[in-house]
Amino acid sequence: MSIHRWLIAIVLLLLAPCFLFASLWIRNTLDAVYHVDRGLDGLEALSTFAPYIRDATMGTQTPATVLNLFDSLDLSPKAHSKLHAELAAFQKAESVISALRSARAAARDVLHEINIPVIVDIHETELTYLISDTLLSVILQSSAMVQTGARVARKLDVNAWDKMAVTVQGGQVKVEADAVSRVTAAHIPQLPADKSAALLALSANYREANSAYQREGSKLLATTLEANTGSDINYRPVFDAFPLLADASLGLWSGTINYLIADLEDIRDAKLLAVTTASAAGVFIILLALGMVSMLARNLAVRTAKTIDQLGYHDPLTNLPNRRALVKALNEENGSGNKQPSGLLLLDIRHFKSINSRYGDQFGDLILKHAARMIEDAASDGDMIARTGGTEFMVLRTHMACKDGLNSLAHDLIKKLGRERRYESHTLRLDCCIGLSETPQGTWTSDALLTDVSLAVRHAKQAGASRIATFDPQMRSNFDTQTQVAKELRTALETGRIVPWFQPQVCIHSGTIVGAEALVRWVDTPDGVRYPGAFLGAAAEAGYMDAVDEAVRRQALEMTLRASRLSRASFHVGLNVSASMLMDERCVDRLLAEVTAAGVLPSQVNLEILEAVMIDEYSSAPILSNVARLSELGFFIELDDFGTGHSSISSLRDLKVDRVKIDRSFVHGVDRNSELQRFTRALIQLARSLDISILAEGVETEGESAWLAANGCQIVQGYLISKAVPQDKLIAQLTEMNGKDHPIPQQGTFGALH
Ligand code: C2E
Ligand code: CA
Ligand code: CA
Repeated sequence: MSIHRWLIAIVLLLLAPCFLFASLWIRNTLDAVYHVDRGLDGLEALSTFAPYIRDATMGTQTPATVLNLFDSLDLSPKAHSKLHAELAAFQKAESVISALRSARAAARDVLHEINIPVIVDIHETELTYLISDTLLSVILQSSAMVQTGARVARKLDVNAWDKMAVTVQGGQVKVEADAVSRVTAAHIPQLPADKSAALLALSANYREANSAYQREGSKLLATTLEANTGSDINYRPVFDAFPLLADASLGLWSGTINYLIADLEDIRDAKLLAVTTASAAGVFIILLALGMVSMLARNLAVRTAKTIDQLGYHDPLTNLPNRRALVKALNEENGSGNKQPSGLLLLDIRHFKSINSRYGDQFGDLILKHAARMIEDAASDGDMIARTGGTEFMVLRTHMACKDGLNSLAHDLIKKLGRERRYESHTLRLDCCIGLSETPQGTWTSDALLTDVSLAVRHAKQAGASRIATFDPQMRSNFDTQTQVAKELRTALETGRIVPWFQPQVCIHSGTIVGAEALVRWVDTPDGVRYPGAFLGAAAEAGYMDAVDEAVRRQALEMTLRASRLSRASFHVGLNVSASMLMDERCVDRLLAEVTAAGVLPSQVNLEILEAVMIDEYSSAPILSNVARLSELGFFIELDDFGTGHSSISSLRDLKVDRVKIDRSFVHGVDRNSELQRFTRALIQLARSLDISILAEGVETEGESAWLAANGCQIVQGYLISKAVPQDKLIAQLTEMNGKDHPIPQQGTFGALH
């Protein structure tokens, strides 16, 4: 569900109680309006009834239509038939009295049905009695009094009963008339003056007519009480005053009805206005709420989009732009028509895996943040710095003013990051490699710049620690070649064309073959042999190094078994072990299992470890512990390329090195170069002082060999003795040189084996 819909749902949920309350209120109000409408229907029908009552009072014929007067009223069947009967009686009445009685009953029923008191105020409630009871009773009683007076006046003898009848009737009139006076005097003045003026005038008119009637009535009473015959009775004045009282009463009756009609209409209008206003306010509130929801949703959507954008283009750890952002910037720059030379720098921190595994991921994160800040500090204004990968940072400079381009920044970064620093409780330096790619003046494409810089950094990494490489097109063709080589290498591995050749190692004094170094060869055809320099780079890059080494080890160990059975002297096979292999925690178990499976002893295996590997502070820790374990297991440990890695005495001792292999650079021409002799002699003496045996590699001449023999070197390896040869050839050499029947060669002399 979208945010928009969620918000609407929340708002509706919050507004729900209000809606419920409002709908109840509107329902109640509309109920009240219905009630008012019913009251109005009843009152309006009563006001239509008024002329008929008047006609009946004055003795005029009542028209038949009176039966339908109250049809508009919504009545129960029972109430309807009762009212119908009363109106029928009204129509058919033979006397004024019975007509008025029916009219009064009908009025009472109607008022009872419409129940005005629940709508109007207390004073108006009192007025309803004027309509339902009192006023019609006044007319009825006064009419009866006039008729009683007339009847007695027509008599010749007036007896006590007659006199009483007139008197009682007079009393009845008075009771009803007084009730009207009381109600009008008490309640009409309490009504709103502007609305009740007409009613007040009508009640005054009624009072006047009533007192005139009462005055004449008392004459009737007085003359009746004294009369002996009918002619003594003076009923004429009452008879004359009656129509005025009846008119005034009916006038007040109609006036009261009209007042109530007007009031109910006001109430109705007020209620409808309230409902309309409330509904309009409700609709307004809903629209406002929905409008606000819409606005909120839009704002939220914009903010969410911004956050997503931020996440999509930012590296959360360093808060630097990420690779996407950099590519975007490159594309934008590309389209901007910038003709200035631009440059891209790619810095990769090496051995970061070791930092993480040694100090923990959190510490690794801290280092990356520090690195990001250092790069920011070193970069120039306008440079875009991005974290483009785990340990990769890039700097994009789109307007390179100086000729030097990004070169000085690269050197600066190598220096700054490479400086030993304290991070929390650990002191370390970051080893980085940097690739640079620059565009000449004119157009350029971002894709090319990115791939170029990747090739450049790859080149730098292959060259070693703290290297900087600037892209040149040769790198691209090298890369293509390496990709092709890697592809072919895979097939070569599968078809067993990756084999070790063996370069014999000979005792300088006896000439006996004491071992051989396994050197990998890629044998395509009997004549086509590829050397490590042509494919090991590609193998490492493509991740085939492990497979290559394993193939070499397996075949070399097989050969060792054969060699040891043949040879009189003990025989060592030299295996070049890569740093990545030595860093692997399973390396010890693996080597031991392989050696055991081949049926040779660990002591027959000479592990050649590059001296340079040992001085790399990140990789050295796991390597040191693995080498120590391998040494304990009896493997022969040899430091390869000795002299080039600047090993310290302590590292030689800690490693429990069995032999050092003096690098070719310290051997080549050593018999003729006194300067070199000093170095080489120092190396030999260093090893001897630690009781470590010495092998010299790359021995090509007798002179070099003689010098080495004279200076304490025990074993030599080099073209002077033999190049690396296939297994069978080595076996043949061994048979020839070390065979059980062959005499031990003379000290210091050995003919070339090839
Ligand atoms: P390295 O371990 O220093 O091996 C010695 C290299 O010097 C070999 O080159 C060898 O053919 C060459 N060499 C030996 N005697 C002489 C000499 O008298 N004069 C001259 N000029 N060169 C001589 P190669 O076979 O091309 O191997 C190059 C490097 O490749 C090796 O250097 C080693 O680091 C690596 N390598 C070779 N085989 C393997 C292997 O199976 N695994 C691993 N990880 N590395 C290997
Ligand atoms: Ca070696
Ligand atoms: Ca070497």
